[in-house]
Amino acid sequence: MTGTQRTAIVTGAARGIGAAIALRLARDGFAVGIVDLHADQCAQTVAAIEEIGGRAVAAGADVSRPDQAADAVEHINDQLGGALVLINNAGVTRDNLLFKMTDDDWDSVMEVHLRGSFLMARAAQRCMVDAGWGRIVNISSTSALGSRGQVNYSAAKAGLQGFTKSLSVELGKFGITANAVAPGFVVTDMTRASAERIGISFEEQVEKAVARLAVGRPGRPEDVANAVSYFVSDEAEFVSGQVLYVAGGPRG
Ligand code: NAP
Repeated sequence: MTGTQRTAIVTGAARGIGAAIALRLARDGFAVGIVDLHADQCAQTVAAIEEIGGRAVAAGADVSRPDQAADAVEHINDQLGGALVLINNAGVTRDNLLFKMTDDDWDSVMEVHLRGSFLMARAAQRCMVDAGWGRIVNISSTSALGSRGQVNYSAAKAGLQGFTKSLSVELGKFGITANAVAPGFVVTDMTRASAERIGISFEEQVEKAVARLAVGRPGRPEDVANAVSYFVSDEAEFVSGQVLYVAGGPRG
């Protein structure tokens, strides 16, 4: 660890919202561990951070695998100094109406969002407890409030909110806060893929989403990163167990 620079870990940070969070935390002064399925996919995010004079390392891991999650945390702690911030952002969708949803659709979404966040938090908490300071932010979704074709995803994202609240109860006495950010419609590869799946153009999907939004524009990854940056800050030390909807309106 150089000087007093703190380390943050962001999962699913090869692209999309995770990459924006990683870059924002680097701008905020953190060294950043970039976790995604394959280390080489993280090169672009690492390069973007180094371009602004930051420090970053990549770790390839499937966060739903206990050994890989633990190894990724250990690798980042070794390379950058013990991480005091964890952002559980890695995610997948396997949308389908209930009667067509397969066991695998259900399991894979639960595994990445819920099991992955649990495994990463369990591996990362030790350094935070030792330091008496830590921040965990879990990326939920407006889908937690109910979403057609997403019984798996909405259950996982609602589950993450309960997970967050319990983390905040358990870890508060160690100076660790846990909060959730629940984005609405954000322009990323994930929303692009969902337009493709339902057979409409991405432009049409964006237009439909914006029509429902009070602020009249779609979400950007940076909107989510700004909220994460607040929860991670020293100023937010009395804010814990909360869910912040970042959705361009009351519900997204
Ligand atoms: P994205 O563009 O699909 O990025 C997700 C990243 O997570 C990808 O790089 C993906 O790798 C990685 N990932 C998937 N499974 C993983 C695993 N098991 N271990 C490690 N990494 C894994 O998605 P996004 O739109 O940025 O979404 C980021 C988060 O925000 C997700 O939790 C999502 O549910 C949530 N969210 C998104 C929106 C939205 O509108 N976009 C709204 C609400 C919430 P691969 O590319 O190799 O699969």
